[in-house]
Amino acid sequence: SLRARDIRMRFGPVEVLRGAGLDAAAGEVVCVIGPSGSGKSTLLRCLNGMETRTSGTVLLDGRDTADLDVNVLRQRVGMVFQHFNLFPNKTALQNVALALTHVKRMPRERAAEVALRRLGDVGLADRAGHRPAQLSGGQQQRVAIARALAMEPEVMLLDEVTSALDPELVKGVLELMAELARGGMTMIVVTHEMGFARRVADTVVFMDAGVVVEAGPPEQIFEAPASPRLAKFLSQVL
Ligand code: ATP
Ligand code: MG
Repeated sequence: SLRARDIRMRFGPVEVLRGAGLDAAAGEVVCVIGPSGSGKSTLLRCLNGMETRTSGTVLLDGRDTADLDVNVLRQRVGMVFQHFNLFPNKTALQNVALALTHVKRMPRERAAEVALRRLGDVGLADRAGHRPAQLSGGQQQRVAIARALAMEPEVMLLDEVTSALDPELVKGVLELMAELARGGMTMIVVTHEMGFARRVADTVVFMDAGVVVEAGPPEQIFEAPASPRLAKFLSQVL
């Protein structure tokens, strides 16, 4: 489980997180929605130590992550981005295996085995030898997801992983995420895909201006928003 409490974060004079928090129980999917600039990405980055918060606590299985080495934290809380950040000159297999040899210090052959298995999990075993440029955007994003999975994270953070994809490729990646969710992966997903949030999320968190305005099960968030800000946001995106 991952619990974040009262997270504050500023860029210079601007406080972009003003006491945000969320809870993801083990095996749960939390979808984070909200307008552009509301702090969704910044909150996610604070959860795995990619951004240093000003204050607040992040608990992983009830333990304060402030006590963890940041590299350990990033292994236990994996992250996938909108732009997949694959190495262009490496094959899909090498992209997945790299983190295993470098971060987990796995022997090269064993890393290749694990990488191939994870590529299989995302339906790309037959593309292992392809470089990113030889893969579609959706396939590249699957490689990035396989790379994150290979680290065996306890929690996966996914930040708008379908936003850069051509429309016809979005569905496949959303299906893969739904499959991960069914497999029991704990996930915190920033998304503009309201259909996905409605279908797959256990909890939907609505952020605006650096705070969580409302959180609850999808039925409540989408059918009976309590705050005018959420109602207005939904009227704009649905
Ligand atoms: P989007 O939906 O557009 O991705 P978001 O909700 O993810 O938006 P963030 O990227 O978290 O929003 O940004 C929150 C605020 O922090 C914005 O006002 C943004 O301009 C600011 N911000 C983000 N990164 C930086 C940075 N490195 N330096 C300064 N300000 C930043
Ligand atoms: Mg963002």
